[in-house]
Amino acid sequence: MAPMSVLTRDEAQTRAKLLDVHRYQIELDLTRGDEIFDSRTVIRFSTRADGDTFVELKPAELRSVTLDGTLLDLDAHSLDENRLPLKDLTAGEHELRIDTTMRYSRTGEGMHRFTDPTDGETYVYTQLFMDDVQRVFAAFDQPDLKAVFELTVTAPEGWTVLANGITERQDDGSWRAAATPLISTYLVAVAAGPWHSVRTEHRGLPFGIHCRRSLAPHLDTDADEILDITRACFDRYHEKFEEPYPFDSYDQAFVPEFNAGAMENPGLVTFRDEFVYRSAVTDTERQTRAMVIAHEMAHMWFGDLVTLRWWDDIWLNESFAEYMGYQTLTEATRFTDTWTDFGIVRKAWGYDADQRPSTHPVAPDPEAVPDTASAMLNFDGISYAKGASALRQLVAWLGEKDFLTGINTHFARHKFANATLADFIESLAAATERDVHAWADSWLRTTGVDTLTASVTAQPGEWTLTLDRAGSRPHRVTVGVYDRDLNDSRALLLRERYETDIPQQPAPE
Ligand SMILES: [Zn+2]
Repeated sequence: MAPMSVLTRDEAQTRAKLLDVHRYQIELDLTRGDEIFDSRTVIRFSTRADGDTFVELKPAELRSVTLDGTLLDLDAHSLDENRLPLKDLTAGEHELRIDTTMRYSRTGEGMHRFTDPTDGETYVYTQLFMDDVQRVFAAFDQPDLKAVFELTVTAPEGWTVLANGITERQDDGSWRAAATPLISTYLVAVAAGPWHSVRTEHRGLPFGIHCRRSLAPHLDTDADEILDITRACFDRYHEKFEEPYPFDSYDQAFVPEFNAGAMENPGLVTFRDEFVYRSAVTDTERQTRAMVIAHEMAHMWFGDLVTLRWWDDIWLNESFAEYMGYQTLTEATRFTDTWTDFGIVRKAWGYDADQRPSTHPVAPDPEAVPDTASAMLNFDGISYAKGASALRQLVAWLGEKDFLTGINTHFARHKFANATLADFIESLAAATERDVHAWADSWLRTTGVDTLTASVTAQPGEWTLTLDRAGSRPHRVTVGVYDRDLNDSRALLLRERYETDIPQQPAPE
């Protein structure tokens, strides 16, 4: 069996040059039984020149395709694996209507369907990251073809339908979600079933947390804690970011059999429902859940409002959310020691990966990510842990004020659009005198660790600290001077903090 065609970076670039996608109207019918659902999509788009392109879909059955009002003969316009060719388009506006039946998934990809063994209730939810949109509806499936999404869902009696935008039940029994702002295809989300929900409002926006009914008592027990962390992070991000929260609601659904930890769908974050704790847990586990809440919320700005252009920048997306998540939790919640955990667990993972022959630069060469299939291969201790550590060093090196100024410039420049690592560096460079390009070259385009060694010499009345560096990268380090606590022999008291720069070593002539 031939593998489905994966989208290459070259194909994505060509298609982005040709197309401007405006709007998707998607109708899903979830009342067709256990195996399949109906999916009807209308895509409005324009082409900038005459040309050929394709739309992706993986249907159980393709019933009809109508292009600009003309029903296509499916014998002549058949699917080529997961691609429907659209030939001889003329420059201008187009409307594509596709009527299909799709298959539910049992693997967490596309529209996952789960029946709870506890009570026999059924739930479905989407996970469309990277290239699984086409399992749910027909789409020009690449991150830089953002569009407005309007969704209507027909669901069994007694279900609630959640989506990116606020949903409302209509007179005919179907559910309609408010149109999204411009978002990427991989961020569209639906979760439907007889959810147990705890709803509230914060800063005028509806907030909700949801789980399957059989977990209701456990969610209720922790609802205050989860919502308190959500509100605290939300408020803190509003202090840091000038762009207000970009979507119309904030739902967090704890869903069954989820493959990842969580997914940052705008307005509808999905979490694995193992985060609804069913027995006594340690405070470290509570901190982990809080960390994931903070991480996913950071993506609402960095990832969802401003989205990577291609998958070579996943590391930046994840490192940013990782950095912001730890930092914001420390600042805004009772979990004030998150960076200690990061230093022990995450950073050690990065150090380890970076000293192996298999290490690679934090930022891959774009040529190293030629298609969606290769995008996940480099996703390891370097991309996540070293990437987030480097970003934290960047904040120390720039100063948090300039870093946030740069970030806010970045959001203002690229909101509801896409950006690359180079755009990110440009935005930071606009906020500082420092040479951010050189910093990026030495930290993100190289491999291996630098070693800093501290030695202290003492003379009467004077201490001298010397820092030796093996390596060439610039570092900003903070040195703390401590006194022994006379009341507690195990404790130290901070007397003073000194910040110092270790400048970049010029490249040998
Ligand atoms: Zn993330």
